[in-house]
Amino acid sequence: MRFYRSQQLIRQDLEAHIYSQAMLANVSGLKNLCKGETKFCAVIKANAYGHGISETVNILKKADVDFFAVASIYEAIHILGMVKKQSILILEPINTTYSPDQVAICARKGIHCVLSSSEDLDFVSETLSTGKSVLKVHVNIESGMGRNGLDAELASELIERIDRCPNTSLAGVYTHLATADEEDLSYAYVQLEKFNKFLDENSIRDREEVLIHAANSAATIKIPESHFDMVRCGIAMYGYYSRQMPDPPVKLTPAMKLQAPIVKLKNIVAGDSVSYGRSFIPGKDTTVAIVPLGYADGYWRSFSNRAKMKVGDSVVSVVGRVCMDQVLIDVTDVPNVAVGQMVTIIDNDHRSPCGAYALAELAGTICYEIPICVHSHVNRIVH
Ligand SMILES: *Cc1c(COP(=O)(O)O)cnc(C)c1O
Repeated sequence: MRFYRSQQLIRQDLEAHIYSQAMLANVSGLKNLCKGETKFCAVIKANAYGHGISETVNILKKADVDFFAVASIYEAIHILGMVKKQSILILEPINTTYSPDQVAICARKGIHCVLSSSEDLDFVSETLSTGKSVLKVHVNIESGMGRNGLDAELASELIERIDRCPNTSLAGVYTHLATADEEDLSYAYVQLEKFNKFLDENSIRDREEVLIHAANSAATIKIPESHFDMVRCGIAMYGYYSRQMPDPPVKLTPAMKLQAPIVKLKNIVAGDSVSYGRSFIPGKDTTVAIVPLGYADGYWRSFSNRAKMKVGDSVVSVVGRVCMDQVLIDVTDVPNVAVGQMVTIIDNDHRSPCGAYALAELAGTICYEIPICVHSHVNRIVH
């Protein structure tokens, strides 16, 4: 099976600075909101929300992290060799598109998997029936997210079958909250009530080996009743509140800053146009700088003529259309501007005009999507 391209390109000029101290402090801040015995699951899907999956696993080795959660078996296998003391949980339910080898690897290596139907259990038990290995499985209870969860009755039946199957053992029961990041938490509490009912009716709390979990970042921060045995944090670990909070109980610091150099300076005479579509025509003579990054690298085209960047301490405007791999900024007022000077494209400061919140607002999206879009060929430099 082919997991890797033979030559992975790294663009050395595009620098995503990853700050270990910030990430580690975010993890301890989040853990401090929980009881001492609550386990911490670091969610590192989507290339660790753009921060680099290998880099992030390496940084978090120094933290008190119990689990790494990934989206797919591919990421699980990718980090297997790097992970020693933590467990790995694959969030996407195991399904019949897995090859028998993949199921066997999960069982043999102790990778925790989600099971979401009887058919999938049939497939797993058949695949493993010739050997002795036991797959650790988690069951996702539908409490209102409306995605991968199983309704209570089906979940109880599945758990009974898992208990009877010699090649599976129940390692977790969990749910996922749909609105923990919203101001109105009433729906989240309704979900928790349903989940608690399931736990009680099925005596899950009496089973010491079964981890109960429900909280994402927002719930970890705002809903202590959702912590159970383990919290699953993604965005907060990277330094962002799912939604900006006026008075947060934990201080989070963004763990990424994206920079690239000015590669060319150019004078535009008043009335001349800049870039595709001639969307920027300055009324006065203007100095623009070219930065060698564009929408192919994860810098959204919708930032055209709208976003800010920083050159030193000066805040500058993106002018004209963002191209595939180039973008122009107005540096007329930047003192001593020079080729080679670094430009901050995504800032590691919540209040910055080019922080992920400001950019997300411009793009009409949530802060998650800003670092996640930073292309994997951008050099991750760990500090
Ligand atoms: C992605 C994901 C998380 C992490 O969510 P954040 O809001 O980034 O903390 C937690 N649980 C599940 C099931 C997820 O898919």
